[in-house]
Amino acid sequence: MREKKELHPKGITTFVIDRNINYTNICWVDCKFCAFYRHEKDADAYVLTFDEIDAKIDELLEIGGTQILFQGGVHPKLKIGWYEDLVEHIHTKYPTITIHGFSSIELDFIAKVSRITIQEVLSRLKAKGLASIPGAGAEILSDKVRDIIAPKKDRC
Ligand code: SF4
Repeated sequence: MREKKELHPKGITTFVIDRNINYTNICWVDCKFCAFYRHEKDADAYVLTFDEIDAKIDELLEIGGTQILFQGGVHPKLKIGWYEDLVEHIHTKYPTITIHGFSSIELDFIAKVSRITIQEVLSRLKAKGLASIPGAGAEILSDKVRDIIAPKKDRC
């Protein structure tokens, strides 16, 4: 592995001020270790409205933030059109905000529920303003353990 000093000999470290926005806690995957998810009928299940998301971005801008990380549960019904509207809305209203979002399991399920390929999901969201995606969602790399704690989770 190359050392940081080798790649950046001037010793400069940069960072971004980023806010995680969990746009929904509704998820059908039911990982055993997860205290976050809810089912659609639970009293405290939610999907944030665009106005609620805007309010969170306004707070981020007030402290000099430049990036949001969208991450949710794996909603059983939201299709590509909802995500396109979301990304387009943010990109149009907040052009200075970098939209980083959607883990591999979310992207995989958006493709499945929308009956399109993952490549199409990515290209359509990129066209609306998605800048990058996180490397989250693997949870654990041992298939044996994963089959016990998160058996419904795809190996994306
Ligand atoms: S996929 Fe994510 S949100 Fe859903 S149950 Fe598993 S860890 Fe929780």
